[in-house]
Amino acid sequence: MPKVIIAGAGLVGALNACYFAKRGWQVEVYEYRKDIRTMKHVHGRSINLALSQRGKSALEAVGLKDYIVNQGVPLYARLVHNKDGKTFSRQPYGQPGEHIVSINRRHLNEVMITQAEKCDRVRFFFEHKIRSVDLDKKELVVEYIGGSKIPQPGKKSESPQLRVSADLIIACDGAYSAVRRSLQTHPRFDYHQEYIAHGYIELNILPKNNDYALEPNAFHLWPRGHFTLIALANKDKTFTVTIFAPFEEFEKHMSNPHDVRQFFQENFPDAYELLGRDHIQDMFSRVKPQSLVSIKCSPHHFSDFVVLMGDAAHAMVPFYGQGMNCGFEDCLVFSEILDQMSDDIPKTLAAYTENRVKEAHTIIDLAMYNYDELKDLVNHSSYKLRKVFDLW
Ligand code: FAD
Repeated sequence: MPKVIIAGAGLVGALNACYFAKRGWQVEVYEYRKDIRTMKHVHGRSINLALSQRGKSALEAVGLKDYIVNQGVPLYARLVHNKDGKTFSRQPYGQPGEHIVSINRRHLNEVMITQAEKCDRVRFFFEHKIRSVDLDKKELVVEYIGGSKIPQPGKKSESPQLRVSADLIIACDGAYSAVRRSLQTHPRFDYHQEYIAHGYIELNILPKNNDYALEPNAFHLWPRGHFTLIALANKDKTFTVTIFAPFEEFEKHMSNPHDVRQFFQENFPDAYELLGRDHIQDMFSRVKPQSLVSIKCSPHHFSDFVVLMGDAAHAMVPFYGQGMNCGFEDCLVFSEILDQMSDDIPKTLAAYTENRVKEAHTIIDLAMYNYDELKDLVNHSSYKLRKVFDLW
């Protein structure tokens, strides 16, 4: 039976493990973090995400779609909040019944890890940091970073560093992929990275009278020119609220409790009431804005056994709501090509790059285009007419 090694047990790595479990391959997953199912707090990016049709189809192929969708909150329309804090406009996402879903990132990740682990050919190695790939020896160099001595797969060694090999290595280790970094000097590998001027901070709206404080089944948007606020409902009746603004704006208008309060009161009066002064001031005093990066590279594979997927291959700004969805689709597309090529890995890798690079670059461009558009939204009364927006 062929063996696959997956670098990273984030969203795309965990889904890939489900795909290869179903295919009957032997699967090893190496993940830097502890097992998130055992952790109290998991640090990282957005608390919730919008799952679209692209992602749903990929989950369906491994039998997870219905379960996951039922764990989320359906969003049927976008609600654009005006600056007066009282009025808004509603823009349905599609035909009646069509919707995207607000999903909790951690829960989604945990469900996929548990699902993959049900298969006894799948093993997860947490607290294992990928260092590099050795293309000549066809090995992945991994370091155990946990406290005690480790269960090293098939090897007896005192060294925390181990070398593992497989027929196929899939790098799903995110935007700052160690696998990609170690192969960056590979001849004819193109790589482009761009940080945008905006950063983001996440806040939280608590339930009001034991119920949602805003309409739950809508994507709430407060576009205000070059900064904007969004809110997505969670199953526990809270909302995760994210403010996106240029780092300069954070420094100029949100760097002390008085200024940040004034900024929210002036620009998002209705959201301000629901978030509460103390929560806003507390979050801004504790949390620094996080950066957003867009990454293109080509090809998406190296030699005849390494392939990049998810953010490792195509990190994008979140203004199209497609980063995870596109990463999920990578798993589906790769699996379909493997089928077509009767599990011939070198042929699959070549066909995958041929198919996927163009698609990934297009969606990265669309996300960036939406970012540019968003900055001008406040001046565009035609916003509701624009079809280009997928989720936002
Ligand atoms: P990651 O989620 O980054 O997972 C990578 C995994 O690899 C992690 O578990 C990490 O610990 C591990 N890892 C990293 N380095 C190593 C190493 N050296 N060794 C071992 N393991 C390692 N997308 C959507 O589709 N819809 C949305 O609504 C949406 N909203 C977003 C909002 C924000 C604010 C942001 C920032 C992003 C959003 N995205 C959204 C994008 C989405 O978060 C990413 O596209 C998605 O997380 C990519 O998944 P991944 O598994 O490729 O990478």
